[in-house]
Formats: sequence, structure tokens, C-alpha cells
Amino acid sequence: MSNLSNNFIAGDWIAGPSTISNINPSDTNDVIGEYAQASKSQLEDALNSAQIAQKKWAATGLEQRQAVLMKIGEEMMARSAELGELLSREEGKPIAEGKGEVYRAGQFFTYYAAEVLRQSGDTADSVRPGIEIDVRREPMGTVAIISPWNFPTATASWKIAPALAFGNAVIWKPANLTPASAVALTEIISKQDIPKGLFNLVMGSGPSIGEALAESPKVHAISFTGSYDVGLQIASSAAKNLTKFQLELGSKNPLVVMDDADMDVAVAAATAGAFGSTGQKCTASSRLIVHSAIHDEFVDRMSKSTSDLQVGHALVEGTQIGPAVSQQQLDSNLSYMKLAQEEGCEVICGGQKLELDNPGFYMQPSLLAGGNNSMRVNREELFAPIACVIKVSDYDEALEIANDTDFGLVSGIITQSLSRANHFRRNSESGCVMINLPTAGTDYHVPFGGRKNSSFGPREQGQYAKELYTQVKTSYILAGTP
Ligand code: NAD
Repeated sequence: MSNLSNNFIAGDWIAGPSTISNINPSDTNDVIGEYAQASKSQLEDALNSAQIAQKKWAATGLEQRQAVLMKIGEEMMARSAELGELLSREEGKPIAEGKGEVYRAGQFFTYYAAEVLRQSGDTADSVRPGIEIDVRREPMGTVAIISPWNFPTATASWKIAPALAFGNAVIWKPANLTPASAVALTEIISKQDIPKGLFNLVMGSGPSIGEALAESPKVHAISFTGSYDVGLQIASSAAKNLTKFQLELGSKNPLVVMDDADMDVAVAAATAGAFGSTGQKCTASSRLIVHSAIHDEFVDRMSKSTSDLQVGHALVEGTQIGPAVSQQQLDSNLSYMKLAQEEGCEVICGGQKLELDNPGFYMQPSLLAGGNNSMRVNREELFAPIACVIKVSDYDEALEIANDTDFGLVSGIITQSLSRANHFRRNSESGCVMINLPTAGTDYHVPFGGRKNSSFGPREQGQYAKELYTQVKTSYILAGTP
């Protein structure tokens, strides 16, 4: 097997005891490759090498650390077309989105390259005369990064870049549905002038390698993005060792459309938010909460914009909606369509499985109406190109329904009223709020994360990331006399 299908452990590309096939969801006849699965003893090797390498890295000069991160970011941006194509081939998002994701991932590295030099701390006088106090941040040590398939390069990068920037070693376990993107990013990192063992790629299933990693006492912090159920398991594994951790989980994001909305803005935001990345986005707006005065017009316009979306092979220019990532995800999407109808929703458009020339996991993007907020399709995360319109009679009801969810990642409102937009911003129970914008689409230099069951622990991205990747030390110094 080629090196570029292997794990990267203690500075070497290493085959594992078994492999998995990586299948293109746009064309299941296309096998992208066979990828190594690590054994638990290989994971142990990675953990042991990380302990040693991290100390060397933390002692490496800031400019050297900065240069490494900058080089990684610049190479990713320069190769975003090639690596974006690979990403789209294995994940199924349209090629423009794949390229955009890799470019954005590169920006995380260049941003955190700059953060390496933003050194700060506090000094204070002790309450005891003659004693000075110094408060500074130090690396955590070894960080476990467990990432999902839906943004395989960006999610991993917004964790790996700050972990390295703040002086940590990394053990990365990517999702098994997207190993090629993981190997491609690792290949770029492996070429850098870093201590052997500082960065390790350990591929394997969640229940074997993921669980062993989360349970290891050799891990000092865990950053996890994935589903709520797995997040709970990570939390309990971390708790056994009192390991610091952060979870970014599921969502059920609302987009409120008020009676004074600019209808073009509303339809564009709802279409992009609900169906971008085939709805396989933690920031997708799957609940469209619409004022009764404009409900029918909105549903008509959304029906047209949804039906106009071009479903197809991710690598074909012009495709706007790719396939579901897997047969299992497609089956789940179709069963939620069935459930929605049993619960009393009307299918306005879409919802059918599609057979294209190339065999893949395709379905039509789907708009439901006549829904209420207690239906399972409006309470559970579908991760599908399915959005449901919920009709409301006024703003107060819209806000109440928007907040009536177990999740709280992103919310949005489309309105021309500044005071209503401000009221929503202040009273929405979510970690991110969008005004006259799609719920999806966030920046890299500011914090990202949610509330309730969507997130736990320190925020990701921007300067806030240091809360997970560093720990504070307070030193007392007897100043002495001249
Ligand atoms: P998942 O929970 O199935 O898997 C995520 C990662 O955890 C994978 O690498 C998987 O192998 C690993 N894993 C699975 N079981 C494990 C276990 N017992 N112990 C340790 N690791 C384990 O999620 P997914 O299907 O890959 O991704 C989709 C989910 O991710 C959705 O719920 C989505 O909302 C969420 N997501 C959230 C955000 C966010 O920022 N909030 C961003 C992207 C995706």
C-alpha cells in the first residue's frame, strides 16, 4: 500500500493490521483507495512519541513555530483546487465547496501562525510586599482531535492549527468516511521541520481507536466535533481522567422569516442555509419559521428555488447538490421523509431518491410545509437536504419556537426592522446569530460554537481557542533587594 494511505505515527508512515475502502458517494464504482486502520498498540506508539515531541516543540522558537504553520497554510491554499477535488470526490460536496473548504482550512493555519506571536500574560504585585506575580499560559501537552466527515479538512484544521500554535502535540483521528482528505493534510504537515511524533494521524473506527484515544490518560485535552450521542461518550471517557475537553455537536437551526422580510434575501438565505452541502452541515437551517402574512408567497418562491437546484455528481461543474455521504445517510434521509408525512407534513417539492447515470446516494432536495415544532422532523437533527416550514402568527411566537429546541448552535432572522433584529439577537438561545444572512457561513477569526446540546466547553476559533489549548500558570517571585 502506498505511504499516502497509511497512518502517520511517530514521524513515519505506517500500515495497520487492516484497511477500509474509500468509496465515492457520487459514483460508487469509483474506489478512491484502501486506507489503513491503526491498532491500539500503534495508537500507544503515537501517544508515547507525542509526549517527547511536545516538549521539544514547546521549546522551539516562536518564529520557527510561526513559519511551520504559515507554510502549511500557504501550501493548502496553493493546492486548494487539487485537494478540494479529492475532498469532493470522497465526501460528495460540489467541487466549488470542496475547493473553498480547503482554502479556508489553509486560512486557519495562516491565522494561527500570526497568533503564535501574539504573546501576552499578566503581571501583578503580590499583596505581600516584595513579591511579584507572573501569570502566563502554557501548552496543555498532547491534544486528541476527533473530527467528523462533513467538513473533513476545515474542522480538523480549526483544531490542529491552534493546537500546534499554542505548543501542543496532536493525535488526530479523522472520520472513516473521509480518510483521503486526512492523509492529504497530514502529508503537508509531515514535510515540515517539526519534531518526530509531534503530529500523528491515527485512522480507525470510532468505537475502537476513537474510544481508546478519548480514554487515554496520556491525552491532556480533547477537541471533538460530531454527533450528540458520541459527544456524551467522549464526555464520560474524559471525565474518568479529568481530561479537559470541548464538544461541538448537533443542531436544529431555525431561520425566522418575518412579514417585513425582503423576499429575495429570505429565499436566497433559506435555500443556501437549508440545502448547501446537501444539508449535511451543523449550521444548516432545517426549521423555516415563517410569518403567516407572507407564508404562502414564501412557500411558492422556495418551492421554485428548491426544485431548480441541480442535483448531480460532485465533480461536475454546475452541480449544486451532491449525494448523501453514504447509503446509511441516504436511508436515514428517506425514512425522515416518510416520517414527516406520517406526522402530517405536506411535501411541497422533492423528497424522492434519484437514480442518475452514475450510481450514487442521490435524493431531491425537499421542502415540507404544514409542520409544527413538536414533530420529530423538527426536533431531531436530520443532516439531510430537507427543510420544514412552520407557520407562525407573530414575532413572539416565532422567537418562542426558534428557542424551543434541545440545540442552540445558530439561529437567523430575516427582517427589515432594526429593533426586531436586535431583540432577536439578544434573546435567541444560540451561540451564533445571523441577521439577514443564511445560518451557514462563519468566519475564522472570531469564536464559533453553540449552547444547550450543541456544544460544551471552550469556544473554537479566533483567540478564544486558547482556552482549550493552553493552561494558566501563576508564579510568585521574591523580588529581592538591590
Ligand atoms: P459522529 O459522531 O458519528 O463521528 C464523529 C467522529 O467521532 C468520527 O471521527 C468518529 O469515528 C468518531 N467516533 C464515533 N464513535 C466514537 C466513540 N465511541 N468514541 C470516540 N470517537 C468516536 O459524527 P459524524 O457522523 O462524523 O458527523 C456528523 C455530526 O457532526 C452531526 O451531528 C453534526 O451536527 C456534527 N457536526 C457539528 C459541528 C459543530 O461545529 N457543532 C460541525 C460539523 C459537524
